[in-house]
Amino acid sequence: MTDAVCATKSDFLAAAIHYVDLAAEKLHLDRGTLKVLKEPKRILSVSVPVRLDNGQVEVFRGFRVQHNLSRGPAKGGIRFHPEVNMDEVIALAMLMTWKCAVVDIPYGGAKGGVICNPKDLSDGELERLTRRYVSEIGIIIGPEKDIPAPDVNTNPQVMAWIMDTVSMQAGFSVPSVVTGKPLEIGGSQGRNEATGRGVVFAIEEACSRLGMDLASATVAVQGFGNVGYVAARLLHGLGCRIVAVSDSRGGVYRQEGLDPEEVLAFKQRTGSVEGYPGGTGLSNAKLLETDCDILVPAALENQITAANAPSVRARLIAEGANGPISAGADRILEERGITVIPDILANAGGVVVSYFEWVQGLQHFFWSEEEVNRQLRRRITGSFRQVWALKEEHGVSMRMAAYMLALDKVARAHRLRGLYP
Ligand code: NAD
Repeated sequence: MTDAVCATKSDFLAAAIHYVDLAAEKLHLDRGTLKVLKEPKRILSVSVPVRLDNGQVEVFRGFRVQHNLSRGPAKGGIRFHPEVNMDEVIALAMLMTWKCAVVDIPYGGAKGGVICNPKDLSDGELERLTRRYVSEIGIIIGPEKDIPAPDVNTNPQVMAWIMDTVSMQAGFSVPSVVTGKPLEIGGSQGRNEATGRGVVFAIEEACSRLGMDLASATVAVQGFGNVGYVAARLLHGLGCRIVAVSDSRGGVYRQEGLDPEEVLAFKQRTGSVEGYPGGTGLSNAKLLETDCDILVPAALENQITAANAPSVRARLIAEGANGPISAGADRILEERGITVIPDILANAGGVVVSYFEWVQGLQHFFWSEEEVNRQLRRRITGSFRQVWALKEEHGVSMRMAAYMLALDKVARAHRLRGLYP
């Protein structure tokens, strides 16, 4: 990436680019194509003024990045978080391009974010912030252009406000401008749970290849949100022992296993899993070093670094979050023989069912939850098989195989379309 675009590259963005370079080398990709694939196509930075409940005006900063549109319209979530920054959004948009290619859905990658702490905002403030941000990025989003979705701290209600804002400005309903909507306004069955469910499908595939018995496996989950909670609940249902879970405030450990639904009920009452009476307290750092078979980091990026990778005790890691393992840590884990199911495969379930929601909306024809879950399993297991086969063929990690699969697809699309003008 040129320094004009990115003067200071964060570790996360540097890692995303690093994997692209490595995969391109393995694929013998020509330099020109590689340069195109590494550059974000569009970066929009917007000011988001919001009237607060106390009458004062606060101005927030928001971003929307479209990384590559060779394979279709842009697709990617919107994150509300105090530590969002441009580098992070570029890296996340880039990951979306590869993710859509790995699971073979006809989208390019995008991501959005607003620097804010939603916990400090009332519902009214959050709604005004969402509507103004969407108005500001309205020049580049649309059902055939760029379709946002939920990410950290955004949910179906936020998606409903996005849909309504775009619809009010158009003068008619435009449900397919966003996915992850509530069912009542054109959402898809199974979307809310899709990312966590996809993580579990990927874990099932990995366990069968690694000779691990899922029904007796122990699991630790970092981040007890949309992705982490659903993954924990479904794994618990398959017989796994969920020995540790955590959120931004802290975690809880119980060797005999936790019931994710009970922990969720506690979190809903108190705001956190921390202090759950059925287990002992555990820091987020310690959770990553918990003695378990399967580790699911499902919070934020750069949680497993070169500093703590030597202490990870899991045999299998499924990246529920985007970029939870730094590039340095990835090398260490590989050397230690720990299998990592990379984010662009493990957590692709969300974008797969977002794609189903978009298709259903455009056709005005909606599927049952069983159908959605069946199609989701088909996509995740099919892509898993392709990635595993490439890994075996080239003697590389699953991450490298997934990047090779993705880059090859995007490069082919780019070459077929040619360079305009
Ligand atoms: P969420 O807001 O529902 O949950 C995030 C959880 O992580 C919360 O429990 C929060 O308390 C916790 N958390 C935040 N900072 C933490 C920290 N430092 N240590 C431990 N826990 C922390 O968000 P989500 O939608 O579940 O997203 C989680 C991750 O999954 C993100 O990396 C996101 O990009 C990725 N992801 C989400 C989706 C989706 O469909 N929601 C799809 C693909 C990837």
